Amino acid sequence: ATAATAAMVWFRKGLRVHDNPALDAGRRASARLYPVFVLDPRYLRPDPAAASPGSARAGVARVRFLLESLADLDARLRRLGSRLLLLRARDDVADTVCAALKDWNIGKLCFESDTEPYALARDKKVTDFAMASGIEVFTPVSHTLFDPAEIIKKNGGRPPLTYQSFVSIAGEPPEPVMEEYSELPRVGDTGEYELLPVPTVDELGYGDISQEEIPPFRGGETEALRRMKESLQNKVDVSAFLELHILNHIHQEWVAKFEKPKGDPSAFLKPATTALSPYLKFGCLSSRHFYQCIQVVYRSVKNHTKPPVSLTGQLLWRDFFYTVSYGTPNFDRMKGNKICKQIPWSESEELFVAWRDGQTGYPWIDAIMIQLRKWGWMHHLARHSVACFLTRGDMFIHWEKGRDVFERLLIDSDWAINNGNWLWLSCSSFFYQYHRIYSPITFGKKYDPNGNYIRHFIPVLKDMPKEYIYEPWTAPLSIQKKVKCIIGKDYPKPVVDHETASKDCRKRMGEAYALSHLDANPTKGKTSNSLR
Ligand code: FAD
Repeated sequence: ATAATAAMVWFRKGLRVHDNPALDAGRRASARLYPVFVLDPRYLRPDPAAASPGSARAGVARVRFLLESLADLDARLRRLGSRLLLLRARDDVADTVCAALKDWNIGKLCFESDTEPYALARDKKVTDFAMASGIEVFTPVSHTLFDPAEIIKKNGGRPPLTYQSFVSIAGEPPEPVMEEYSELPRVGDTGEYELLPVPTVDELGYGDISQEEIPPFRGGETEALRRMKESLQNKVDVSAFLELHILNHIHQEWVAKFEKPKGDPSAFLKPATTALSPYLKFGCLSSRHFYQCIQVVYRSVKNHTKPPVSLTGQLLWRDFFYTVSYGTPNFDRMKGNKICKQIPWSESEELFVAWRDGQTGYPWIDAIMIQLRKWGWMHHLARHSVACFLTRGDMFIHWEKGRDVFERLLIDSDWAINNGNWLWLSCSSFFYQYHRIYSPITFGKKYDPNGNYIRHFIPVLKDMPKEYIYEPWTAPLSIQKKVKCIIGKDYPKPVVDHETASKDCRKRMGEAYALSHLDANPTKGKTSNSLR
């Protein structure tokens, strides 16, 4: 494309200006730039029949986060003399993009590469159309640290199936594109197109959601960068009282000493981890920029933790799952998935609904599921607890069912990471120590003996004495009456007995493992630590 023709930057994820190679290429290519985002009905059409507010595929918390991110992106582009062109697809996003490419006489199309199956099909359709129309297409890898296709190539055409092998192949990630610029090319003529202002969730027709708890995540690049800085600098809330040099020391200590398995999953007012996942999911924050910023802190200290438990180790987990998912056919299901153990999961709609709706009678499990519904985010080990409980720990229900619930309700819902972790937690792949089961009673208690987390998310239990808060069915009736929480009426009795259910699960897992053709599984024998 010459500078005379127009360029389009098509935003999907990567909702940011910093480290955005597609935007950078678009801006260099042309004197006219069309920054486009297309609202996709697949994710946004409200579904009144869903179990909780939102569309069939996205809970309202994630929809809200996306809209906030778009509004922020628009504001940031406007500061550079441009704006976001928001279009609505009637049905197929690819068709809308192709029409705009033609109508606006675009000469160069730039968009970030995306490895999810849905995105691959969508993007192929657009790319084929563009090529056939003589439009130059540029699709840089910038959502992940590394290019999954390149890692697979380096590994002889197969994805590395252990973290260690992935890390040894990966090496150091490319530097982010952090060039500052003060202006973008002006937006070209958009003709008859209806350009939408960024709608609110109400305007999209989500009905009355005024009663919903608003999650503590505001979408957008501005917030992402602020939070990253806060995470790297200030996990301690005492900044006002400390001398700067002491404070700097504490900042670095948190990053340098970060050890994922030691985090407290019940800490919700000040999470034990960065809580940046929603921002990484939508690309409001570049993982390469985040990685580099952590390196700066590492360089300023004597010692720091290392992957897999360190903070950079977490970003490598993300890339690990992206790579394996990209190179594994049917990664998101059990059938036809070569790295997934075939397990005869049982069906129980009643148990599944109890789990999904936070009604299992185990307050630790239910509080986590309620946090999921309300906030769209939980600590990693909290996710471990409920995923184990649904699958190989207590209920023996298919991981795909739990995956679907997470996929819809998490703000950070991410196809590669979510499926990868469900495969892991259900002992279907990557991790095989199925006899190690999280207790729905003692695991949470270890971190939060008073049950503050439970009291917050399950208000009906807020006055339950601490000795019963994890097992309220053991409270004497007099106490249940006194705290106005009768078990079986105000809060459910346990839907399974953990002792017998977990024993039964172990037995069934043992049988399934014995039957499955272990030799067909390339990761046989290589297990990793369960607490990542
Ligand atoms: P931090 O510990 O601060 O880590 C920084 C970043 O590293 C995260 O934001 C995330 O991008 C990445 N990361 C951290 N842990 C993992 C991991 N185990 N695997 C891959 N990447 C990781 N994470 C998602 O982003 N989307 C999902 O849909 C998702 N589904 C999950 C489902 C299950 C059953 C489980 C057990 C975990 C899932 N995770 C998912 C991984 C992990 O729980 C979250 O990434 C993490 O809790 C987010 O919090 P944070 O940003 O504070 O993480």
